[in-house]
This record gives sequence, C-alpha cells and structure tokens, in this order.
Amino acid sequence: MSEFINCPNCNSSQESGAAFCSQCGTNLSTSTEQPVPAATAQNHSAANPSQGKAIASLVLGIVAVVCIFFGYGALLGIVLAIIGIVLGTSAKKEAPSSMATAGVVLSIIALALCVISFLACVACVGLLFSVESLY
Ligand SMILES: [Zn+2]
Repeated sequence: MSEFINCPNCNSSQESGAAFCSQCGTNLSTSTEQPVPAATAQNHSAANPSQGKAIASLVLGIVAVVCIFFGYGALLGIVLAIIGIVLGTSAKKEAPSSMATAGVVLSIIALALCVISFLACVACVGLLFSVESLY
C-alpha cells in the first residue's frame, strides 16, 4: 500500500505521494521522490527546439539566397524563405535570440530577392516566347 512520511514542519504522518501536508500545508515535494520536476522538464524541452528553429531559419535563409542564382530554383528559394520566416518568427516568440532575429531578417531578404529573381525569370521566358511567336 502507500507509504507514509513525516511532515518536516508539524511531524504529522502524510502519504509519500502528497505534494502538501494536509495538516499545515507545508510543501512536501522536496522530501518525497518525484519522478521529474515539471519546471526543469519544461525548460529543457522549450530551450532546445527554439534554438534549433532559429538555426534552421538561418540555414533556410542562406539556402534561399543561393537558390536565387539558379533561375527557376528561385521558386524553391521562395518556399524555403517562407519556411525560414515561419520558423524564425516562432523561435523568436519562444526564446528571443539574435540568431532567431537574423534568421527572420535573412529569410525576408531572401524571399524578396527570390520573388524578384523569379518574376524576372518568368518575364524573361515570357519575352522569349512572345518574340518566338512573332516568327
Ligand atoms: Zn505539516
């Protein structure tokens, strides 16, 4: 059955799973064996993914910028840049860092450049086709 511990404050017998003493309300969680402290687990899982997102955002921004130089690759760049903005913004919300900000800014710049490059490419091809159709 359930084990009992003595309250460090009033020395009354309390169930070992209880968080607080039923007699005096003293926090018993420090003296009982709790599997994982909730605050520590939350901090641990919150810090790493946001940093990962910030890095991913930065990498996507860089890749998107490179895509500009590959004609229709700019279309891929637009997609990557949008993902970069979404990841960077969410990373910034969770844990503001200079890396997340850099990721968002770089992705926005990459998106703008990719859109210009893609439109220029489409216009170029469109022009070629219209010239060809004249003959
Ligand atoms: Zn007590």
